[in-house]
Amino acid sequence: MKDLLHKDTKFLAVIKANAYGHGLLQIAKLLEPYVDFFGVHSAQEAYTLLKSGIDCQILILGPVFSHQLPILNPARVHLTCSTLHLIEALHNNGFSFPLHLKVETGTYRQGFVLEDLEKALKKIKEYGLPLVGLSTHFANIEDTLDHSYAKEQLRKYKEIKNLVEKKIGKLQFYHTACSAAVLLFPETHFSLVRSGISIYGYWPSRETKLSWQYKFGEDGPQLKPVLSWKTLLSEIKWVKKGEYIGYGCTYKTTRKTKLGVLPIGYYDGYDRKLSNKGIVLIKGQRAPVLGRVCMNLLMVDLTDIEDVSVGDVVYLIGEEGEEKVTADTLADLAQTINYEILSRISISVPRIVI
Ligand SMILES: *Cc1c(COP(=O)(O)O)cnc(C)c1O
Repeated sequence: MKDLLHKDTKFLAVIKANAYGHGLLQIAKLLEPYVDFFGVHSAQEAYTLLKSGIDCQILILGPVFSHQLPILNPARVHLTCSTLHLIEALHNNGFSFPLHLKVETGTYRQGFVLEDLEKALKKIKEYGLPLVGLSTHFANIEDTLDHSYAKEQLRKYKEIKNLVEKKIGKLQFYHTACSAAVLLFPETHFSLVRSGISIYGYWPSRETKLSWQYKFGEDGPQLKPVLSWKTLLSEIKWVKKGEYIGYGCTYKTTRKTKLGVLPIGYYDGYDRKLSNKGIVLIKGQRAPVLGRVCMNLLMVDLTDIEDVSVGDVVYLIGEEGEEKVTADTLADLAQTINYEILSRISISVPRIVI
């Protein structure tokens, strides 16, 4: 990812949502030598990083409330600011965190509209708060091959950037790019990029991958997922033809079936929408989920797989032999996106760095 950047562009690794399910501290420790910033969502996540001894600048991307300010260290933590409320809270409590103003360009999530931005700049000047960055976020850069909406957002951002520079002067950090923008549009990089999903080896979307291949050819650089999610086969039993499997009797065996039971369920983040749809790997072969995913258990069809025993490793996400099941596979089956599949792997599942 860093090879795609101009040498002066800084890299922020987005490790919110437990590093997209990969483990906040495990990933932070691995990435620390290579990145300039960590991006987290909340004050709690920033606090966890601060306490861990990991030594890197942190930008909080989400909202921060005034009661959370005292737990944060202004020498290490930058704040995203998109409300006049936060500016007043910082001033009233005497806090001086480096601020990144987030501006509205068409996503309508966080971001100052122009009128409030002018008020914010005035207050920041008046209160002498340290303004270091200006950011925005794209609404429609992953889900389409038509990037005209993103280009219009970029145009608006540049206009606002000029305005801010006229009023305040040049800032240190200008940033707009998420993974898709980092991969596809160098003109969005400015002095800092914020990359999440792609640092874990996943494409932001099929469209981003297609656009990338169109640009660099099928032999261009590829992304490779870094996470496997494993469990152990906990029970095997034969079920005769015509029996129902699991809650709601949603699956009826069509043959004598060798059933496997796995100690994993929706509590652990295995989506219940994968009932009768999910695929797991065992002995390098695909085994379909039978019946509903339970809270802590699920059942799979092992009839066509030989030599399986209790205690065998089962991949919920991973690669074994010729077969693989990725977060994209599960996302397609559960009608969601790889981001959700990954980030919902429960915090209770141990993360082991290999
Ligand atoms: C989550 C997030 C990102 C990262 O997006 P990816 O598509 O995962 O690269 C970047 N910027 C902001 C503001 C975010 O909230």
